[in-house]
Amino acid sequence: MKLPIYMDNQSTTPIDPRVLEAMEPFYRRIFGNAASRNHSFGEEALDAVEIARAQIASLINASESEEIIFTSGATESNNLALKGIAEMYREKGNHIITTQIEHKSVLDTCKFLETVGFQVTYLPVGREGLIHLDMLRRSVTNKTILISVMSANNEIGTLQPVSEIGTIAKEHGIFFHSDAAQAAGKIPLDVQAMGMDLVSLSAHKMYGPKGIGALYVRKRNPRVRLAPLIHGGGHEQGLRSGTLNVPAIVGFGTAAEICKREMNQEAKRILGFRERLKTGITKQLDDVYLNGSPEKRLPGNLNLSFAFVEGETLLMGISAEVAVSSGSACTSANLEPSYVLKALGVPEELAHTSIRFGLGRFTTEEEVDYTIERVVQVVKKLRAASPIYKEIRQAAVARK
Ligand SMILES: *Cc1c(COP(=O)(O)O)cnc(C)c1O
Repeated sequence: MKLPIYMDNQSTTPIDPRVLEAMEPFYRRIFGNAASRNHSFGEEALDAVEIARAQIASLINASESEEIIFTSGATESNNLALKGIAEMYREKGNHIITTQIEHKSVLDTCKFLETVGFQVTYLPVGREGLIHLDMLRRSVTNKTILISVMSANNEIGTLQPVSEIGTIAKEHGIFFHSDAAQAAGKIPLDVQAMGMDLVSLSAHKMYGPKGIGALYVRKRNPRVRLAPLIHGGGHEQGLRSGTLNVPAIVGFGTAAEICKREMNQEAKRILGFRERLKTGITKQLDDVYLNGSPEKRLPGNLNLSFAFVEGETLLMGISAEVAVSSGSACTSANLEPSYVLKALGVPEELAHTSIRFGLGRFTTEEEVDYTIERVVQVVKKLRAASPIYKEIRQAAVARK
């Protein structure tokens, strides 16, 4: 086993060697522009792009591969879905419904749309991070044009009731967009069965390359029309101009194909490891709390709060050997706790001490066991130095 261990698969996934292998020829021999249809260099590139498009369409059960529009990633797909619908259907209405725990690329796009005359309802979530369907129903007005709810959350892994949301959207003739960057390739997704009209995907969350993603845009029942963000040569049916990144697209397609084939078995294995990690930690430590839903959850996500430790010190103690993510947005100068945990009602002190463990395709049992050992060790050490923890423990013992 090599250190450090990678336990941050919701942040990004390593590229699968099979994906890299599929991409390589397109950086060397097959370098043509997929738009140059008049010679074999372009033709070969275009053929590869269309195979990839079909592989991605198949992963989410889209009825035509033309419903897949390549973008630079889920951030762009979310922007294209929200702004594209907003601009195209402005005459119909100016109301959008989303949730408080969406990825920033949805939330910030909604904030922007509010500055140009749209109204956005940010649905709250319950303790497990799930929206309330009756609240969604009550939020719909005759001005609502879009419901945007993520399939799986990137911090707490919560899986939203997308089929039910799709049904509600359909009942009201509203489009349903779902950010499935975390869900695709990990859990079964079916745009037909789930009534999804637009779906955002990202290759680097499913063992593909970074900088490539897609937006599924439904063509029939109902047909979704979109205003483009990027104008130019009319690529991707005019929805996203710019020369296609052929090697990345081929990698994305291969990644999707592997996920489709191996998803069931892989999910079972990863879920087993996730439960092993959870039990291993909670058996040896008191006052550890699970954030999110115990059942309605991505197999590879475990988000725990450790009471009576200092968040930053905990993270520092772990991350030299185990790469994890914290519940604080310490990317910026401020140490605000995660807005997702806040929306769940997790108390601020606990939000500060939360750790997201992201297990993935290449996680091993040995790595899980090492992580357990390391986390338990660090938390015990920090608590041993905490006067509050000692007092509370002594009081608990005295009560018994
Ligand atoms: C990673 C992620 C995104 C952003 O995807 P990029 O391809 O990195 O732009 C959007 N939504 C969710 C839920 C994500 O996990």
